Amino acid sequence: MRFVSTRSDGAVTLDEALVKGIADDGGLFVAEALPRFSPSDFAGVDSIPDIAHILLQSFFAGSALEAELDAILAEAFCFPIQTTLLPGGKTSLLELYHGPTAAFKDVGAGFLAACLTRLESDASSPLTILVATSGDTGGAVAAAFNERPGMRVVVVFPDGRVSDRQAQQLTCWGDNVLSLRVSGSFDDCQALVKAALGDETLARLYRFSSANSINIGRLLPQATYYADASLRHYRDTGQRPGFVIPTGNLGNAFACIMAREMGLPIGPIALATNANKTIPDYFESLEWQPRASIQTLASAMDVGDPSNMERLRGLLGDADVLRDKVGVRSVDDAQIEQEIRDTYGEFGFAICPHTATASYMWRHMGSEHQNSVHWILVATAHPAKFETIVEPLIGEPVPLPSVLAEILSRPSRSVTIDPTLDALASAMENAFA
Ligand SMILES: *Cc1c(COP(=O)(O)O)cnc(C)c1O
Repeated sequence: MRFVSTRSDGAVTLDEALVKGIADDGGLFVAEALPRFSPSDFAGVDSIPDIAHILLQSFFAGSALEAELDAILAEAFCFPIQTTLLPGGKTSLLELYHGPTAAFKDVGAGFLAACLTRLESDASSPLTILVATSGDTGGAVAAAFNERPGMRVVVVFPDGRVSDRQAQQLTCWGDNVLSLRVSGSFDDCQALVKAALGDETLARLYRFSSANSINIGRLLPQATYYADASLRHYRDTGQRPGFVIPTGNLGNAFACIMAREMGLPIGPIALATNANKTIPDYFESLEWQPRASIQTLASAMDVGDPSNMERLRGLLGDADVLRDKVGVRSVDDAQIEQEIRDTYGEFGFAICPHTATASYMWRHMGSEHQNSVHWILVATAHPAKFETIVEPLIGEPVPLPSVLAEILSRPSRSVTIDPTLDALASAMENAFA
């Protein structure tokens, strides 16, 4: 299959789209045409890698990776992804947090790493993934590329502005991962990465690539868990489930919408944002008004200019059409806190602040909506990653999952730098010389 930019017609191969990340014209790569399925195409197919094979094989047609698809899927889906019916049977939780860094981004990062490692296996010099992060992304990318031959990662994060546990996840990796604490803000980190990507000398020396959420290689595998969860529910009940999805840059939700467009048995889709209201405001006013982000408790969703909206508008249309096809609601910090308490009170377990936006939206959607379908709440991170927020609210410690315990037990390494290109360049030279 060929992939085109959301902004112009020139088509590229999947392999090019994966390595480039973003199109030359600044647009995002999308599939030229989506394959169509019906639930019967998946009859008797029960494991996530097998479902993924059927779902994704046409995207890989003509790619150098075509024959490697099963190996890639086996690597990317090496941890459980499950849907759990919550006590009372009214709703379910799609648990996407059993991966190496206990967040859903492990799925996309692992898949992209498996693809790029293979594409780069004959390269004469390493590919360097540069990532600015305020938390979850950098950890998932570092974990996915850790100790992979031919791959380096430079994680750039704001010193003192990520939690201790997050910092540990950014700094506990092998020799091919350089973790840089920047004396500055997240915006400084992003500006630094942008400057490095645009610097010809550095770019030639290190062969930069990016692994942020606009890479098509992170979106494709995410459609798989929506396929799996919806097919299971459909087989059991004959009904299409709805999904409520915590939404920031719209990558996770876009994958669900794409799966529905491909014919998977998915009912209504509801997007829960935090107090960053760009999407709800767009549906209301019909004007797209991206803005600076504001800090919230659901920090991995602090996005004021969700880049995947460009893909969504290309796929379905503008707000006047979109708002009939997906629901949206903004959930503020006080509501997130209330929901973490309410969920603990009702179901007896903790959820993370991101998951709480989805859960709050479900709890407050009104009984008519609530009873119209079986809703699956998408749980994007393990609450133990955000223990400083969650534990005071529920008055209990959150047990540490083994993946996080393992990460916390590792030695940590990082270099502190000023937010300048010179400092970045010399830190890379020291680390990789
Ligand atoms: C990144 C992230 C989100 C938001 O996902 P998008 O694809 O950016 O919409 C939600 N929850 C958690 C825990 C995340 O890390």
